[in-house]
Amino acid sequence: MKRNFASPMLTRRATLLGGMALISSASLVRAADTLAIVATTGMIADAARRIGGDLVTVRALMGPGVDPHGYRQTRSDIVAMTRADLVLWHGLYLEAQMEGFFEELAGKSTVVAVAEALPKDSLLSHPSYDGRFDPHVWMDPTTWQGVVSEITAALSAARPEHADAFAQNASTYQSELTALAAYADDALTKVPEDQRVLVTAHDAFGYFGRAFGFEVIGIQGISTASEAGLNRISELVDDLVARKIGAVFVETSVSDRNMRALIEGAGAQGHEVRIGGSLFSDAMGSDGTYEGTYIGMIDHNVTTIATALGADIPASGMQGKLAQGS
Ligand code: ZN
Repeated sequence: MKRNFASPMLTRRATLLGGMALISSASLVRAADTLAIVATTGMIADAARRIGGDLVTVRALMGPGVDPHGYRQTRSDIVAMTRADLVLWHGLYLEAQMEGFFEELAGKSTVVAVAEALPKDSLLSHPSYDGRFDPHVWMDPTTWQGVVSEITAALSAARPEHADAFAQNASTYQSELTALAAYADDALTKVPEDQRVLVTAHDAFGYFGRAFGFEVIGIQGISTASEAGLNRISELVDDLVARKIGAVFVETSVSDRNMRALIEGAGAQGHEVRIGGSLFSDAMGSDGTYEGTYIGMIDHNVTTIATALGADIPASGMQGKLAQGS
């Protein structure tokens, strides 16, 4: 029954291909040769697009505002990953609900956990995340550059004939990331030293803190799955009041409920805390916007944090700097 259904389709497809081959064999070869990539997070997908250019098609599973710690693969994700030439996931237990699925998929498809290749001594551990590393490595552009190298290697291994083109694109992208790290360093150094404290909804900014000399306090633990207890909130309120911390930050992929409790608690003790802005932690901004790219996401975070904590820098950030040609 299946064979009867399939064979007319095959014949028709063969005829179509035959006809098209006469017209444009070159474009057909190129279309068939395009590397189909599925990536879990937007940050990985963005790097794959920049490195692959028009030699790849990239689909990101997790869009703007999606929390990777709790994400489970959908039916259509499974279909896309099974058909893809290359599946890129982050690893380091970021996609906690999908680990088992990737282990299974690795037997059938080319699957690469791009952050797992980072040297272990460059990774942060976390007291409430026993025996595992902090997965949020994209928060430090310099650490993320190591992941971009790994993504470049994965693309080249899948299509060795395009390795030179990938290397060239990667080199351009890596220079932009170096410029991003330099901008971040410059902007954040302008924050007064006693204000270099970053209070956020969950512990996503450990690598940011290490890179730029900020103390980082997350209300929730390293994963959004752990709920902040009332004790934890009241401890943090006392800390904010005692240290006169004036701004805290919400995240686009995490509920701001705990942050509001913190602000109310501090208010009750007569200390006013503002929301310094909304940061992209585990997901980028909307597709097609500057914040929907990795560089735009980090520029936004750096500029928002630096400005809210007292640095005298242009609100337009690195994007503004680039636009002025300086
Ligand atoms: Zn996170």
